[in-house]
Amino acid sequence: MAIGKKLVAVMAACRYMPQDGYNSFQKYKYTTAAGMFAKINEAMTAEGLFTQVESTLLELRDVTTSKGNAEKHAVVSVKVTITDSETGESVTFTGLGSGQDAGDKSIMKAQTAALKYAYIGGLCIAMSDDPESDSGNTYQPPPKLNGNELVDKCAGCGKGINQKVSEYSAKKYGKPLCMDCQKKQGAPF
Ligand SMILES: [Zn+2]
Repeated sequence: MAIGKKLVAVMAACRYMPQDGYNSFQKYKYTTAAGMFAKINEAMTAEGLFTQVESTLLELRDVTTSKGNAEKHAVVSVKVTITDSETGESVTFTGLGSGQDAGDKSIMKAQTAALKYAYIGGLCIAMSDDPESDSGNTYQPPPKLNGNELVDKCAGCGKGINQKVSEYSAKKYGKPLCMDCQKKQGAPF
């Protein structure tokens, strides 16, 4: 199969995906679907391969989130057919994805996820943001506080104060104060 050789080249080119997305809230990098599809597209077209995607909506239901909001949950399966434009040979990949959204994007999210996982499985792409991963190789939890970080603001002058000072002041003066403002308050009690 000539397409086999071409797919090996695509697999080699797509072995790793760029981490082009950044979650500023949880502070980790990830591969966006757009970045992933752009790289696959580049590798496929370089080999003269084209793709056709067939999506099937398997499930669409109303769900209520833990906060009581109504959302839609969709499950989509995709069949990706990759065809060699020179020989007409083809192979197919399949993928399954789910998506949830308060607006009208649940199906689109499910479809994008399904397509992503069809390629990850089909091309054996190494993803560092593997949803099954529990080793946390990209997600870094927030650092543990050692007591010196400025966690509070002085109620007197607005200067940053650390946890120890804040707790001490709250106990003695009933409000967070920096060392200087504590002195200005005079001796407690
Ligand atoms: Zn102060």
